[in-house]
Amino acid sequence: MLKEPGTITVKTGSMRSGKSGELIEDINAHKRAKMKVLVVKPAQDTRDGDQIIAKEVIDGKPTNIKLPVDANFVSSRRDIMRLIKKTHCEVFAADEVQFFGRWFIKLVQELAFERKMIVLLAGLDLDAWRKPFGIMPEILAHATYVDKCQASCFVCGRPAQFTQKLGGDPTKTVEPGDHYEARCFRCHVMPEDLMAESLGASIIKASTV
Ligand SMILES: [Zn+2]
Repeated sequence: MLKEPGTITVKTGSMRSGKSGELIEDINAHKRAKMKVLVVKPAQDTRDGDQIIAKEVIDGKPTNIKLPVDANFVSSRRDIMRLIKKTHCEVFAADEVQFFGRWFIKLVQELAFERKMIVLLAGLDLDAWRKPFGIMPEILAHATYVDKCQASCFVCGRPAQFTQKLGGDPTKTVEPGDHYEARCFRCHVMPEDLMAESLGASIIKASTV
């Protein structure tokens, strides 16, 4: 949907809630309206390369559900300002904004309310421990529009708002790879509890062999 200059729109929700897909739709809508759109993502999030990708699990496999959009890796205010100057963009779009530092909060307000740009953002609201993720609470507070996207629980199919970490290191918030799925409050388990459960199961399995 087209937005007016001087606004910040945020798509948020859990992993697999469709927020990146909605961001891609908004980016494409503004491109179709012949606006110049700058698309960025945090340099540390190398999971999908230099693209914004909307994935859904179909037949057990993560599958791209929309055509990916090219994005520029950025890690500082300077990177972004340089690209804005170079592209003369009217629309600024960023995915996975929960990974940016606090400098990003001030920057997006400046772009929207001083430069009168259209700002389109997407990011995870909560981490796998159900705690607010990085700068997201402040980004949401400054937003003009917030769309909270709903996933379906991978276990029971009910509406889901939490991200389940399925493997890897239970102390790390972010890891590359597909170690996550959406779960409802009934089925969500803290990462360390899930690891303990699967460890317990493998001990039982080993002792019964
Ligand atoms: Zn569930």
